[in-house]
Formats: sequence, C-alpha cells, structure tokens
Amino acid sequence: MQKPLDIAVLPGDGIGDEVMSACRQVLSACADGLSYDTFDAGAACYQRTGESLPAEVMSACREADAILLGAMGMPDIRYPDGTEISPQLDLRFEFELYAGVRPVRPLAGLPLPLANPDGRRIDFVLIRESTEGLFASQGKGVVRGDSEAEDFLRITRKGSERLFRFAFALAAERARDGFPGQVTCVDKANVFRSMAFFRKIFDETAAANTDISAGHMYVDAAALNMVRRPWDLDVLVTENMFGDILSDLGAGLMGGMGMAPSADIGDDHAVFQPCHGSAPDIAGQGIANPVATILSAAMMLRWLSGRHDRPDLEAAAARITSAVDAAMAQPENLPVELGGKADTAKITSAVLRELE
Ligand code: ATP
Repeated sequence: MQKPLDIAVLPGDGIGDEVMSACRQVLSACADGLSYDTFDAGAACYQRTGESLPAEVMSACREADAILLGAMGMPDIRYPDGTEISPQLDLRFEFELYAGVRPVRPLAGLPLPLANPDGRRIDFVLIRESTEGLFASQGKGVVRGDSEAEDFLRITRKGSERLFRFAFALAAERARDGFPGQVTCVDKANVFRSMAFFRKIFDETAAANTDISAGHMYVDAAALNMVRRPWDLDVLVTENMFGDILSDLGAGLMGGMGMAPSADIGDDHAVFQPCHGSAPDIAGQGIANPVATILSAAMMLRWLSGRHDRPDLEAAAARITSAVDAAMAQPENLPVELGGKADTAKITSAVLRELE
C-alpha cells in the first residue's frame, strides 16, 4: 500500500469555500491515495487573528506534497498600507513558484465571446513569471508626499532562466501531444531595459532548445492576437504583471473567471487554484462556478503523478477533464456566470455523474 500524498487545502475567502467543497467531492470520487488537511488563511483569518497566513499553516504547506487553494482576499479587509490581503502571493514568493501556468482552452458547447465559425482549436498556455517582475515591488514602492509614487520592476537571470526552461519543456511535452511546439516571449523590449534583458535570456534559452520554435511578441500585440487569432498560439511566456492581465483575458476567452484553472509551480512545491478571486459579489449565494477549481485539481493530479510515479493520478486527471468537458457540453449545465441557470451544486453533480 502506497503512503498517501498529503494535500494542504486552503479554501480561503468568499466563494473559496464553495468551489473548494465542490472540488473535494470530485476528487473523492476519482482519486485514491491522497490525504487532505484543511487550514485557515486569507482575509477573514487576518481579520480574526491578525495573521493572513499563520506560521504553522506556512509550515504545513511546506511539508505537504501539494497545495490546493480556493480564493483569498476581500476588498474591504486590508493591511494598514491599504493593500489587499493576498497570502497566495506570499506562497509564490516563499516557495519560489516561478511558473504560473494558465491554460486557455475554451470548451465546446459554451456561448463564448469570440466568434470561431470554423471551430478552430483554441488551446494554448500562458506562463506568467510569478516571483519577480513588477510584483517584486509589492509593499516596497515609495509614495513621496502627496505628489508622486513609484514602484519597480525586477528581472533576474536566475528567475528568467528557470522560467524559460520551464516554458520550453512544456512546449516539448505538448508537441508530443500534437501541438506545434512553439514558445513566444511576450515582453516590451522596445521600451524597457528590464524587458530587453528578459528577451536576451529568452533568446539564449531558445538557442539551447532548437527543437522548439521560438518567437517574440510585444505585450500589446499579444493582447490583440489573443483575441484575433488565438488558435495560432501554443505557449506564451511573460513577466508577472503582463501575465496577471493577460490571464484574465484568457479567462474571458473561456467565458469567464470560473472557467479558468491555474497552477503556480516551483522546483519543490506547487499551488493549484482557480484564476479567479474571492468574488464577494456572489459569495454565499451558491452560484459560483466550480469548474476552474475542479480543473486546477486535475492539474494538481497530473503534476503529482509525474513527481511520484503515480500513473493512476494522471488517469484520474484525464477522467476529470473529460467529465467537465462532457458536463459543460449539456445546455442545462450552463453556469450562471455564462448566462445559464446551473448553480454550484448542479454543476458539481453533473461532473460527478459524468465520472460514474
Ligand atoms: P482578484 O483581484 O482577487 O483576482 P478580482 O477582483 O479579479 O479578484 P474576481 O473575484 O476574480 O475578481 O471576480 C471578477 C468577476 O468575476 C466578479 O464579477 C465575479 O463575480 C466573477 N467571478 C469570479 N469567479 C467566479 C466564479 N467562480 N463563478 C462565477 N463568477 C465568478
């Protein structure tokens, strides 16, 4: 009997609890050999205890085999400097989760914002650097009197090399599944020295990975192309803030935030969570779309499978993905978020039914 893999579960704030409970039901139905410990962290935890990510929770996360997170932060609960509570960012910095993986795969059968009359396959991955860039300035910017404010953007060789290695490895893995094997560096190298440096390191990594084709796009052009011809994209890799913005655009292509899964991956740890936030406007109403969290859990199973030689988890991930696809193809399961009537419970039971 294999030792179970430990999952640290952080439901967090707002709709975090609702989508996590749906996700746990799906995991219990198809993945064995995992044990779960649930911890309190986030804005409500900060309000209650004065800590958003208590030290014992951080150390449990460090010990766990993977971290599954709901959503954190509430607009009206803030640190004294006025910024929002975002322990998910602390986890990224603490565990050096440099690769923010944001798959963009709109599902068939959904009313999507983009006309695609030829039904071309849109299936690309945006990789957002998640430990430096403009976010390195978080909590360190300066406000001078009431006249000006400044933040900084940090790019390091170490941070960029590991990011680009990850991007090329992912493109190679996707190429084995029939994707083009193409990585595009998204930057603003025509304006900023930091971005020219980012691109230089990208080009060095590209030169060491000639089996994969490499290209560049300025971030403004990338936004345009994500809407104009997203079917031509394979793997995009970019700076933290650009990735933050473009991943919401990617979620838009999928129909809404509740459809967009994500993983923040480092060399030793990883956090899996939906792209969306705590959505206080709909929290407690039972209408949150749990699909993004369920698909993030599938990403977690795939990652664990590769690290622990557990092919059963890869198979469970594939079953979850197919079950979500099949459930979403039925008009009665159209999420409230996309203009339908299916609430959290209905979507969850539809996915569970497809898993049977
Ligand atoms: P954050 O800054 O923490 O990323 P945000 O301000 O971008 O959060 P979200 O919480 O992601 O905001 O929500 C943006 C919008 O999308 C809100 O109107 C919210 O109701 C909606 N939304 C987000 N997640 C879901 C979901 N799972 N199901 C339904 N609607 C959602």
